[in-house]
Amino acid sequence: MSAVFGAIADDFTGATDLAGLLARSGIKVSLRMGVPDAPPEPAETAPFEVIALKCRTAPVAEAVAECRAALKWLQAAGAERFFWKYCSTFDSTAEGNIGPVAEALMADLGTEQTIYCPAFPENGRAIFMGNLFVGRQPLAESPMKDHPLTPMRDSNLMRLLEPQVTRPVGLVDRLTVAQGPNAVFAALDELAQQGVAHVVIDAVANEDLDTIAKACRRMPLMTGGSAVAMPLPGLYVRDGDLRSDAEAGRTPKFPDKAVVLSGSCSAMTRAQVAAYAAGAPSFRLDPLVLDAEGPAAALAWLADQSLKDAPLIYATAEPADVRAAQDALGRERAGTIVEDALAALAVAAREQGARRFVIAGGESAGAVTKALGVTRLDIGEEIAPGVPWTFATSAGEPIALTLKSGNFGAESFFADALERL
Ligand code: ADP
Repeated sequence: MSAVFGAIADDFTGATDLAGLLARSGIKVSLRMGVPDAPPEPAETAPFEVIALKCRTAPVAEAVAECRAALKWLQAAGAERFFWKYCSTFDSTAEGNIGPVAEALMADLGTEQTIYCPAFPENGRAIFMGNLFVGRQPLAESPMKDHPLTPMRDSNLMRLLEPQVTRPVGLVDRLTVAQGPNAVFAALDELAQQGVAHVVIDAVANEDLDTIAKACRRMPLMTGGSAVAMPLPGLYVRDGDLRSDAEAGRTPKFPDKAVVLSGSCSAMTRAQVAAYAAGAPSFRLDPLVLDAEGPAAALAWLADQSLKDAPLIYATAEPADVRAAQDALGRERAGTIVEDALAALAVAAREQGARRFVIAGGESAGAVTKALGVTRLDIGEEIAPGVPWTFATSAGEPIALTLKSGNFGAESFFADALERL
């Protein structure tokens, strides 16, 4: 069949998060890891196609080129409406890619306006008067201020966006959103008359997202976190753009050999690692050791483990330790060393028989799936809001993967995930 909706996600966990929320509708969602080499095949195309890139912290020109290639592929698959998905904590510094990619996609689509709505109320992400909150804290006071790659030091989305784009930035605030879809539509129209191309939209609750999705569902391009896209499948069915006859997520059986790999240093992942390590064999990766000696010690440790115990290997560390590693190695090098080690460990685990992989960290998940040669995922049941199990093939073997972005999931997430399959 032909796609109706095409999304481009700036990292892998973000893509599974979005795909999982879209799949809640029961409509088939297909997730591609990177822009496929081959042109889309109608028999293989789902109504909702998501392309996962790994461009959150890539140089701007590279990210723009990749996203434009993804857009082309999705257009060839038949999609007419598009979504640029980034993190619900708007991970993007002044050199970031959110604005430049949006502007490039708008130009390719010939559209004059898009919205920015990273709110995800179920996960405690809310936007009020253009300011993003993480739980009760403004973004810049939340643990995101210490993120290893994208430290967020401002909470105001307009201020974050302005240096990234060439055209005016505006706001549709919560007072307007509270008046319903027609009011939002009218406000967007008025801003468009004034030449405002980039519109941040407030949302503090799921109803706000419904309102926004209703008002914006016909825009050629929407941008945001995954949650604002969640109502779209239902709206398309209601509008008659889509039949609701696609299959729902499935949960096949997998052998119980598993591994948990964590490269996220987010506060929630730190708690998850601590909770899981209390009851399972675990090994800590030290970037300085990896730099000096490579992952040999970790690989040797893994080789000694029974994968039936689902051992944990983690680089997850406190902000002070992350800073120390970055001071010694540079931010990028520290990140790459860890990602390369996790990738090598995932391949070794697969060779030892692991068929279930729990991966924490967006960048980390990107590195792992790439190493496993995974190019396409079917979306299964959600473990936590925004984190589904997904099913793929690696070296000819069916595997299950869950790709969890930093702050998602409860403290018991790793054990919960393994229990669910
Ligand atoms: P999240 O989803 O929490 O943002 P990511 O995997 O996207 O997690 O980003 C975490 C980054 O931090 C990765 O590039 C990872 O390699 C890097 N990293 C992980 N552990 C450490 C550490 N101990 N020191 C420095 N960098 C680290």
